[in-house]
Amino acid sequence: MSKYIFITGGVLSSVGKGIITSSIGKILQVRGYRLTAIKIDPYLNIDSGSMNPFMHGEVFVTEDGSETDMDIGHYERFLDINLTKEHNITTGQIYETVITKERRGDYLGQCVQIIPHITDEIKRRIKQCSYKSGAEIAIVEIGGTVGDIEGLPFLEAIRQMKLEEPMYNVVFVHVALVPTLKTTGEQKTKPLQHSVNELRRIGIQPDIIVARSEKPISQEVKKKIALFGNVREEFVFNSYDVENVYEVPLVLEKQGMSDTLLRILALERREPDWSEWNSILSLANSAKEVVKIAMVGKYSKLADSYVSINEALKHAGFHSRVKVQPIFIEAEDIEKNEDEALSRLLDADGILILPGFGARGSEGKIKAAEIARLNGIPLLGICFGFQLSIVEFARNVCRLDKANSTEIDPYTPHPVIDLLPEQRNITMKGGTMRLGAYEIEIVEGTLAHKIYEQRIVFERHRHRYEVNPKYVNILSEHGMIFSGFSKDGRIEIAELKNRFYFLTQAHPEFKSRPNNPSKPYLYFVKASLQYKQEVKKK
Ligand code: GLN
Repeated sequence: MSKYIFITGGVLSSVGKGIITSSIGKILQVRGYRLTAIKIDPYLNIDSGSMNPFMHGEVFVTEDGSETDMDIGHYERFLDINLTKEHNITTGQIYETVITKERRGDYLGQCVQIIPHITDEIKRRIKQCSYKSGAEIAIVEIGGTVGDIEGLPFLEAIRQMKLEEPMYNVVFVHVALVPTLKTTGEQKTKPLQHSVNELRRIGIQPDIIVARSEKPISQEVKKKIALFGNVREEFVFNSYDVENVYEVPLVLEKQGMSDTLLRILALERREPDWSEWNSILSLANSAKEVVKIAMVGKYSKLADSYVSINEALKHAGFHSRVKVQPIFIEAEDIEKNEDEALSRLLDADGILILPGFGARGSEGKIKAAEIARLNGIPLLGICFGFQLSIVEFARNVCRLDKANSTEIDPYTPHPVIDLLPEQRNITMKGGTMRLGAYEIEIVEGTLAHKIYEQRIVFERHRHRYEVNPKYVNILSEHGMIFSGFSKDGRIEIAELKNRFYFLTQAHPEFKSRPNNPSKPYLYFVKASLQYKQEVKKK
């Protein structure tokens, strides 16, 4: 049986609740507890796969092929564990189950209601997931902000759990923003107070309050939060802005967070082992050089759209002692103004063509791939970035005029990228891509082999299109090397000789961890550093 830490949020969304949840997990994990983390998303979508990353942040793909909220990615990276589809619960899933049961007749004779039927299903899923994960402590983050109508059934469910679970098994942590007034520099606690009141109105008294602020809060502000939030002063914590998110566990721990949690949960106070985490942080602080990576994509206005890629680059930077400076380049801007884009791309030490969907910006990505290839700039192409780099090569090297992906141009004379055969009869959009971890066989003696140092690797996938097998010969004859294949013979990895030009159909970023960086990203960053030092300086 596990104990539960429920995390709610107040005032605003996007205040870093996912990082705080992950950090709380980390500080208990280093004390030797088995942790799991669950994210609740109160929207009606079954999963986040059908949502635009510009609205909701990236879609994070797990080993088992579920398309989940990006916070699942934070949990995996901080806790170094693999999560599953059961770790991301949505309103859509809850209602789907309850309505299916109703139609089957499971509730014959009853009026099916939010309380108890929906709330029972919520509790069942939380408990089942924690139990299956074998966790001593499950951290459950309720997405959104207290006061949202759609979050109410979840808050009601966790209120009930506090009463139904044994004493000392449930703790409520409320995370809320304390904004600073620009003109006076004053830190204001009123919005936080209101969000706590809203929670108390529905029967939840937070045990712990975490104030999120730009700068550390004063003792006076802390006192005020305690008084109006109805918690003990030592149960008020502060998570202020830090440059590196992986420092947040220590920020909380220095204030005594794990002692407090263990006290409330009546758990033994084991000695913490911070050695691994501290060595990551010291690597992060030992960067000697900056490497500029041009990231070519189309949702680049919202950094959250590519969070796993940003993190994978960061991890690669930690382990090569460089600070990676990502430079977002809107693919459409390349189409509009080639000269300006050219100079920005040429200024980069490496070019990363981002994943994506649809025609918008695709020509810009193709152009960026061409610039990288012609100028010998290290290139990493991920998924759609892989596919469009193949299109570029087909057009400009193999001279296949108007070559394209059928996703963009269904009537192209040269469909070098085409729908996967098993996708042809699929009409439903939700959860139907080629998803999750698949085996990749690596060809010996290639760059891919040098990078992975293994013949068999597993990477996560999320796509419907692939390199059209009919074009493999002509692409190979012109110098494209295919160095990774799926079990059923599909192209997974392509590269060019004697340089860092590495294209992968997979998304290696989803498996990158601060203590164990993704190999393709690591080598890409190293190659970019080398390019900066050797080629650019000449
Ligand atoms: N749109 C492409 C496909 O479906 C690539 C997807 C991606 O980049 N994740 O195959």
